[in-house]
Amino acid sequence: MVRSRFAPSPTGYIHIGGIRTALFAFLLAKKAQGRFILRIEDTDKARESEGADQHIIDCLNALSLAYDEGPKKRGEFGPYIQSERLDIYKEWANKLIASGRAYPDPRTKEELDALRDQAKASKQAFLIRNFRPQETLDWQPGTLLRFKSDPKDYTWHDEVMGELSFPASSVDDFVLIKSDGFPTYNFAHVVDDHLMQISHVLRGQEFVSSVPNYLNLHEALKIEHPLYATLPHVLNEQGNKKLSKRDGAKDVLEYVKEGYLEEALVSFIATLGWNDGTTQEIYNLDELVDKFSLARIQRSGAMLDMKRLNWINGSLIRQLDENRLMDKIKNYWPAEAKDYPEEYKKRVAKALQQRLKYFAETPDLSLFFFKDQPLNLELIEKDKLLGPIERQTLKDWLSLSKERLSQSDFSENDLSDKLNGLLKETNQKPGVLFSLLRIAVTMVPSSPGLAETMSILGQDVCFKRIDALAAAL
Ligand code: GLU
Repeated sequence: MVRSRFAPSPTGYIHIGGIRTALFAFLLAKKAQGRFILRIEDTDKARESEGADQHIIDCLNALSLAYDEGPKKRGEFGPYIQSERLDIYKEWANKLIASGRAYPDPRTKEELDALRDQAKASKQAFLIRNFRPQETLDWQPGTLLRFKSDPKDYTWHDEVMGELSFPASSVDDFVLIKSDGFPTYNFAHVVDDHLMQISHVLRGQEFVSSVPNYLNLHEALKIEHPLYATLPHVLNEQGNKKLSKRDGAKDVLEYVKEGYLEEALVSFIATLGWNDGTTQEIYNLDELVDKFSLARIQRSGAMLDMKRLNWINGSLIRQLDENRLMDKIKNYWPAEAKDYPEEYKKRVAKALQQRLKYFAETPDLSLFFFKDQPLNLELIEKDKLLGPIERQTLKDWLSLSKERLSQSDFSENDLSDKLNGLLKETNQKPGVLFSLLRIAVTMVPSSPGLAETMSILGQDVCFKRIDALAAAL
């Protein structure tokens, strides 16, 4: 039975790199009809942040990554929050003490630092295993408990990275239980993965060099280790650094707030370092479950390419049916839209649907549909084609346009015909005449198609705005 887990520490928000680990673990379990487990690793009280547990659950929910076992859900291997499992770690620590594979280390941090300096001065490697205390004391609460390692070379198979080898020098007497009574990650996750019968551990590259310690601990505990799958880094947008909060990696829920669709985020995140052997980039979750395999995770880093996310999201926005479109856009309308009828907003939404990359662009792209925008002659002066044209000519075109368009019923089709007629009559290109009219009726440099835009705005608004521009010219 495949049992995978997502085991975040509740230290703050989750970014795209973190949620990718969850997504891959979820897909792996679902593909094999196994179970996906959420475990909260809150053993570092100093780094914990308020509300982070709920945030983690919210992120999983936002992408529909439902866990089968975990906090707030029953499962036979709980509790799934490490701070509620302290007795379990103590019990396992005692097993190690009893078998001579753990010892209390009464030294303070200052004493350990002094030993480190001493080792450095005498050009010795500072490995705690060479500095075991002389006598073995009874372990008292408040004292560090260390693993008594048995260093050896290790070679193991990583499901993504292939065969990995580390020398014996990477194994040391790491801390099992800290002086505050909490276990270290190194100890707690090994115990929990075993007790929770985790078959596959998916996690980031930063853990690879510690695997020899984990293997050594498994041997000491006489338990089998799970399969390891090391995920390549998610790199920042420049592709030169691991994505990190320190460098401004965004909270996954921020993307949701900005109006990225769940399916877009899932597709984007799944294809950060994984592909199904084709160039497909848009999938739904079921398709991903069907196609996912660890074997197709790449070994090199995957760059966060926002253009790609925008493309995926835009493509999916264009496929939304009217109900979903209206449901999604409803929280993004500018305040000025408040008193407009639903039918009008529907037309605006459909016009925007062809252009939106994400819904938070709605106010900027739609404001002119709801409110006259301040006159801005620079839009004309700075336009390469319109700038050099005499103002009188522009005014003549505006007045001719009004005349011809006053014959229109302002349906999109009819406007289209009349506007094309105007091109012929003035012998101008759309880049000139339509730009002028677009600026007149919107006061922004780009908008949905001119006929569609004018049809939505209606004759009164269009003519009022054309008059205002003509007067200003
Ligand atoms: N608690 C660890 C972290 O958040 C999890 C690593 C793991 O998946 O084993 O980095």
